[in-house]
Amino acid sequence: MNSDPLYRLLLAAIVVAAVWFWRRERAARRADAERFEAERKRLETKYASDLRERTGQLETLLNEMPEALIALNGQDEITLANRAAVQLFNLGPADNGRLLLEVLRQPEVAQSLDRLAREREVRDCELLLEKPVPRQLRLNATKLSGQGGALLLFHDLTTLRRLESTRQDFVANVSHELRTPISLIKSAIETLQDGAKCDSVARDKFLGIIDRHASRLELLIEDLLLLSALDSGRVELRTEPVELAGAVQTVIDDLAPAALSRGVQVLNQVGAEQRLRADPLRLRQILSNLIDNAIKYGREAGTVEISAAPLGGGFVQVRVRDDGEGMSEATLKRVFERFFRADKARARQQGGTGLGLAIVKNLVLAHGGDVRVESAPGKGSIFIFRLPAA
Ligand code: ADP
Repeated sequence: MNSDPLYRLLLAAIVVAAVWFWRRERAARRADAERFEAERKRLETKYASDLRERTGQLETLLNEMPEALIALNGQDEITLANRAAVQLFNLGPADNGRLLLEVLRQPEVAQSLDRLAREREVRDCELLLEKPVPRQLRLNATKLSGQGGALLLFHDLTTLRRLESTRQDFVANVSHELRTPISLIKSAIETLQDGAKCDSVARDKFLGIIDRHASRLELLIEDLLLLSALDSGRVELRTEPVELAGAVQTVIDDLAPAALSRGVQVLNQVGAEQRLRADPLRLRQILSNLIDNAIKYGREAGTVEISAAPLGGGFVQVRVRDDGEGMSEATLKRVFERFFRADKARARQQGGTGLGLAIVKNLVLAHGGDVRVESAPGKGSIFIFRLPAA
């Protein structure tokens, strides 16, 4: 063994250096491992929060969809239903995991699931849901690739179908309304041609019929054109400050012959201070339709009163009141509908088109106001509308 002190010193130095290196290396490795662990934890947290955010976004998206969406697993059990589906089919938390056909006993859904066993998708299958609320639905279903299952999407067609049927009714009503005066004009002309033209009394009578029904046709077409323009937003309102009392008086003067023929007294009780911001021509049309109705459907030798009062929020309320027969509950609900008349024969005989109140409603809405009616059988009627104050 070498006992040279220099040699021993050297050996000791080497040992110390080796220990120092080993310790530094171990500390560095520990620091690396700690850094790695911290980074792993950071990534894990970020991944979890990203996933939460994505799931949240997806959930919001599914729940905001107007269509009802239901996902099924390979056994046709519900695995997911968005908010629209929950509301449409009245689903509860317990329905998750149940067989779809237990929850939704619709033959069309059963047939669609059958078809999905053979085909990739089922398109445009229509069904009528009766409960909880009657709904017309269209179902599109797609088979999910992978572990199986399917995605069912239900579109609610109820409003669309209702609009289609309203439009069909409207066209039928218009045709009917046009056909009646046209056939009366034609038969008056035929009677004249068959010889009535030689008898001066008969000639005047039939010319009078032609004149009356031609005017009715004209009125009907004007009302239809105005309604169509209002529907498509083509009516441009030229609003300006209008003195209500003056506008009411002009309409009362125009309708004086009609009021006189029924012995109705029309009272203008609008104060001189009431000023509206409205299109003067359209305001006159609103007042004219309401006052004309009040004279027509009010009591014979009765009274019609027009009054106004300021409302909060920069509006003025106008009331047209008659002391006539009033309206039943059923009439009240439908009175602003196009072509609605409580008594068709009487309304037609009085020259109405059945569009007057629909026009009133649309014109008032176009001004940013609203209209309603208060009435009861035997108690008269009050039409009340609001328009912006000037
Ligand atoms: P028209 O008068 O041309 O029939 P409207 O749209 O003006 O059409 O009115 C629709 C229906 O509402 C009328 O046919 C009538 O049955 C009812 N109605 C309107 N105004 C009154 C009223 N003041 N009193 C009772 N019924 C009314």
